[in-house]
Amino acid sequence: MNIEKKFLETIKKYRLCNKKEKILVALSGGKDSAVTAYLLKKFGYNIEGLYIDLKIGKYSDDCLNAVNELCERLKIKVYIYNIKEKQGKSIKEIWELVKKKKDLNNCAICGVFKKWILNKEARRLKVNKIATGHNLDDEVQTFLMNVLKGSPELSANSGAIIMNISDKKFIPRIKPLFYLDESEILKYAKKNKLVFVQGKCRYSQESYRGEVRDFVNKLSFKNKTNIINNFENIINSVKNNKKIKMQYCEKCGEPSRGKICKKCEFVGF
Ligand code: SF4
Ligand code: ZN
Repeated sequence: MNIEKKFLETIKKYRLCNKKEKILVALSGGKDSAVTAYLLKKFGYNIEGLYIDLKIGKYSDDCLNAVNELCERLKIKVYIYNIKEKQGKSIKEIWELVKKKKDLNNCAICGVFKKWILNKEARRLKVNKIATGHNLDDEVQTFLMNVLKGSPELSANSGAIIMNISDKKFIPRIKPLFYLDESEILKYAKKNKLVFVQGKCRYSQESYRGEVRDFVNKLSFKNKTNIINNFENIINSVKNNKKIKMQYCEKCGEPSRGKICKKCEFVGF
């Protein structure tokens, strides 16, 4: 597979972004977001990076170092969001607090916070789009998990570009690696000598996703692509074609599906 060709085809097919727009790349320190930033920069897109520092020990420090090194090499600005400083609580304190009220795992809680922070920071930095490093394997996993849970409609708000949310405070999110196989991304990152963290966060609690990941890892690239193409075919029938109308959270003012957004529901501020 020619990664660069596929990347450019995905941008073109879904009109993900153009060169006049400012794009904020959500950098995690891993290979996928590193390749996303590298390719966008290589093909002349106007990008900046954001790293959310969860401060969970050496893993966070290693990721931060990798992000800084990448941004220096690409000559792009990078913003560091220190969760402890900005939210007044470390992510570990947040996990504990939320788990007293809700039966959720660390990753699910992180996910809510990361989305909230990304959108708010993207608006503050006046960017047009947020780019994330989600790849074909991630998308197949998420789709299958929703199908297995009996809720395929949960995937309706997914795809290479998330646009079906009509709200001026919601910054569209794009996934230029949507059709790229994880193993190819890894090879590409190594070939281009990108610095990234290979280890895993030791607080990961994605047991269900882990099981689905093991299954997806056994699938060929062709089968993964077939699943995603079928997902695109059925998605129009499970989603309500109207754009999702958001309200604003009564506590923080961010776009929300209910009166209070998930993040404020979790921590009550
Ligand atoms: Fe949070 Fe899970 Fe990522 Fe660790 S692996 S930082 S717990 S989302
Ligand atoms: Zn809120």
